[in-house]
Amino acid sequence: MLDTSTRTAFNEDHAMFRDTVRKVFERELIPNLDRYEQEGIVDRKFWLACGEAGLLCPTVKEEYGGLGLDFGYNAVVTEEMNYAGSSAGITLQSDIVAEYVEKYGSEEQKLKYLPKMVTGKCITAIAMTEPGTGSDLQAVRTTALKDGNHYVINGSKTYITNGQNADMTIVVAKTDPSLGAKGVSLILVDADTPGYKKGRNLDKVGMHSADTSELFFEDVRVPITNCLGAEGQGFVYLMSQLPQERLGIAIGAHAAAQRAFDEAVSFTKDRKAFGKTVFEFQNTKFTLADMKSQLQVGWAHLDWALARHIRGELTTAEASAAKQWHTDMQGRIVDMALQLHGGAGYMNEYMVARLYRDARVTRIFGGTNEIMKEVVSRSI
Ligand SMILES: Cc1cc2nc3c(=O)[nH]c(=O)nc-3n(C[C@H](O)[C@H](O)[C@H](O)COP(=O)(O)OP(=O)(O)OC[C@H]3O[C@@H](n4cnc5c(N)ncnc54)[C@H](O)[C@@H]3O)c2cc1C
Repeated sequence: MLDTSTRTAFNEDHAMFRDTVRKVFERELIPNLDRYEQEGIVDRKFWLACGEAGLLCPTVKEEYGGLGLDFGYNAVVTEEMNYAGSSAGITLQSDIVAEYVEKYGSEEQKLKYLPKMVTGKCITAIAMTEPGTGSDLQAVRTTALKDGNHYVINGSKTYITNGQNADMTIVVAKTDPSLGAKGVSLILVDADTPGYKKGRNLDKVGMHSADTSELFFEDVRVPITNCLGAEGQGFVYLMSQLPQERLGIAIGAHAAAQRAFDEAVSFTKDRKAFGKTVFEFQNTKFTLADMKSQLQVGWAHLDWALARHIRGELTTAEASAAKQWHTDMQGRIVDMALQLHGGAGYMNEYMVARLYRDARVTRIFGGTNEIMKEVVSRSI
């Protein structure tokens, strides 16, 4: 179990919520983890169970079906899910898509989507990345051109989390291709709109239970009222939501690293070599001590960042630094934890193998760590 006894970011209500999250995951997630990994997708039953228990989109206001809580509740779900070794896309819905809809959506859009996102009846995605561009978002080539009261969307997206499951996707498209960043808009597109096509569920190195897909848009017609917020403001919205997305990735990375450490401790205390436990070798104890120190420092930093974010003070540069540091640290910790398992660590039946393969992507998605350094450097 994830030890939260020395954490400072949470109060008693967060602790009670954490108990609920653990119970739901114990019942609905842990027994199905391997099946989800094999099937390459988390089934809707899990989303509905999370919705019923209040785990989805905790910050959404009560008038839109949510609980109106602070981001600390999102963090609890992220920590528990990553500590459980799951890569389900529920946090993308809670931390990212719900935020966009609630902050920039019209009343009609909020009433249409948020209550169903809270219950898990509507699964969502956000499609920024394209085959030709990822880091350089201004260069997206997908267009949403006006035709009377409609936009006609053409283009393709790739690596989209929840891409197979999604009922609604926020599509990043150029409403005016001549304007660069100022021509970018966010358009809400229902998956059953004619011309919206789901491509392959992509075969990845890790995060096998997260469905990650290509999406194709061929003359997809949506009313102009589907534009999220103001036309041409998409890039500004994307930039202003980055701190929360990046903090969420940092939190998930740290919780997964903690699980890798805990796995290494229990494995080395059990495994014997040369007449003693592997834990008793000085190399093992020093390696574990090094890992433990990094984890301790990291949790303190996350509590600081979380408190700042809840107060609305966390800057984009601070969140980018957190994403970079915690995901780099995750990479180091999972590697050390796997090494301490010996050959067993390379076997997929061991949790540490999953933590190792799932960790690699956190340095890439949500903006690569090179881009994080670029953002941090601009604040110097
Ligand atoms: C599992 C998974 C899930 C994802 N989910 C989503 C999703 O839900 N929605 C979505 O829109 N996208 C998603 N992505 C895409 C992800 O955000 C992009 O892969 C990422 O932003 C990098 O873009 P890219 O792949 O085009 O790499 P590129 O931008 O082509 O980068 C290639 C290399 O060049 C480096 N580079 C690029 N620009 C610079 C620079 N200015 N300075 C220094 N180095 C630079 C990069 O750091 C990287 O090392 C996902 C990706 C994965 C793997």
